[in-house]
Amino acid sequence: MPVVLGIEGTAWNLGVAIVDDEDVIVERADAYLPVSGGIHPRDAAQHHADSIVGLLRQVLTFALEKSLKIDAVSFSQGPGLGPCLRTVATAARAIALNFNIPLIGVNHCIAHVEVGIWKTGANDPITLYVSGANSQVLSYNRGRYRVLGETLDIGVGNAFDKFARSIGLPHPGGPRIEEHARGGGRYIELPYTVKGMDFSFTGLTTAAREAYERGVSLSDLCHSFQETAFAMLVEVTERAVAHAGKEEVLLAGGVGANRRLQEMLGIMCDERGVGFYVPETRFLGDNAAMIAHLGNLQLKARDVTPLEESGVNPSFRPDEVRVTWK
Ligand code: AMP
Ligand code: MG
Repeated sequence: MPVVLGIEGTAWNLGVAIVDDEDVIVERADAYLPVSGGIHPRDAAQHHADSIVGLLRQVLTFALEKSLKIDAVSFSQGPGLGPCLRTVATAARAIALNFNIPLIGVNHCIAHVEVGIWKTGANDPITLYVSGANSQVLSYNRGRYRVLGETLDIGVGNAFDKFARSIGLPHPGGPRIEEHARGGGRYIELPYTVKGMDFSFTGLTTAAREAYERGVSLSDLCHSFQETAFAMLVEVTERAVAHAGKEEVLLAGGVGANRRLQEMLGIMCDERGVGFYVPETRFLGDNAAMIAHLGNLQLKARDVTPLEESGVNPSFRPDEVRVTWK
């Protein structure tokens, strides 16, 4: 059974993990927290560069103590912040060359989907992938993950973080907004933007900030922000299920930790009679286990990355990947 080391570092989270077919054997992470404002790409990359050697040493020492032989090293090739991606790719290349093992560049979005399938036992779901920078509705069909719907501007997590920041809440804003929304009751009308199968969040973010400046209460506003953003996501996910004829919905990405989003999707799935799958929180947001796991799937399909093709791609789309492991 192959043993794969994976490195994640597309944005805020730097992580290293080792997995096999059955489980995560070891995982260590070190999150970057901006001193002020949102994520600064070069600061984040500096954080990753400062901390990658220490994380790798911890995980490799563990592997040595357990006499684990590592068969391949995988890394997030994109999408993500360029400086962060380059730091992680350099570390992965160094490991591959040093141990003389295959290098595997993986698509970060697909890694979110595959770890969810692995950890929940879903089989062939429509995935709602909602993270900081990305928001997509994905469906596997004939050798590719198709993007059935996606954000036309910013990711929904980014919208939460931007709105939170504009009203003085610290980064990351998503969990804070969820807390403030718990006490909310009154619904304030905010821009609801679904165009075909796509959605957009900048109008919502700006309108919410303006409503705050007009004196609308924080809890009513956070409540309304969540209800509006999630209703858009659930509408498109529901149409994707109907269109693709799938019988399962999987939630992926850091925003998936939100209980209200889980509840709304759960209701939609119950009403349609389709299965609803949510992995443990540690596998929702960016994590290294998902990169190692997709690396393992690709390794078994002999889908590895020659050094000369290991350049990073900050706008790497999931539908560019030919799925070799299904
Ligand atoms: P990811 O990029 O997948 O790691 O997800 C990070 C994003 O998830 C950030 O934008 C967070 O604000 C957001 N997030 C995390 N927890 C929650 C939550 N409970 N509600 C809404 N957004 C959240
Ligand atoms: Mg992500």
